[in-house]
Amino acid sequence: MSSRKKLIAGNWKMNKTSADAAALVTDIVAAVGRQADVDVVVCPPFTSLESVGKALDGSTVNLGAQNMHPEASGAYTGEISAPMLRAIFATHVILGHSERRAYCGETDAFVNKKVLAALKNQLKPILCVGETLAEREAGATLKVVQTQLEGGLEGVNKEQVASIVIAYEPVWAIGTGKVATTEQAQEVHAFIRGLLVKLFGEPMAQKVRILYGGSMKPSNAPELLAQKDIDGGLIGGASLEARSFVELVTVAAAVK
Ligand code: PEP
Repeated sequence: MSSRKKLIAGNWKMNKTSADAAALVTDIVAAVGRQADVDVVVCPPFTSLESVGKALDGSTVNLGAQNMHPEASGAYTGEISAPMLRAIFATHVILGHSERRAYCGETDAFVNKKVLAALKNQLKPILCVGETLAEREAGATLKVVQTQLEGGLEGVNKEQVASIVIAYEPVWAIGTGKVATTEQAQEVHAFIRGLLVKLFGEPMAQKVRILYGGSMKPSNAPELLAQKDIDGGLIGGASLEARSFVELVTVAAAVK
């Protein structure tokens, strides 16, 4: 069994009004708010970050954002910054999600600026990488993942890397119900671990959690989470209901 503690992170995306978010977080805290065997993070939309953060107060569940701008402040209409997230006690931030890469044109260089800004502000980046279906079918999966990973981590030093979480999310598996096979997922996770070894050395690379994301749910999680280099999940659809999210946390706690 790996010494890395499993991490289950819920990406609520553009779902839940403040009232809906309050109801969901209340149910999650009631069920797993004292969970110590698994790290749990919830990432609500910006409009509910502060209220969800208050509801998490005193629990072991952490608060994450879904995005941020690399600058600390200034004329960036519609954006929010790392210091703003720290001020409401967020601990994590999802960066480089494939939806932001696809719909907002985020490049590796821009994602990298955000990673460095997050680290500077003691926020833990959840850096997302993953190939499209066309890229997988062209045999380019590992090349794409390598480019995104190396681009996203440019300038990150050995001391910082343990604070980073990587999420491998094959784009073709996100929200589609098509989950990567355990072999497909483990192959890419092991490849990512190997790249981390090259970049930061074996001891540091072994500390980094690599999450799988893409239609993970309670039924397929046990097999995925049992893989050597799969250290948790970044969960979209199944994080929108307390019952399935809590079940995923329970599954992660039970994996040996
Ligand atoms: C995600 O977008 O991060 C994700 C993994 O979504 P889903 O679980 O819905 O595939």
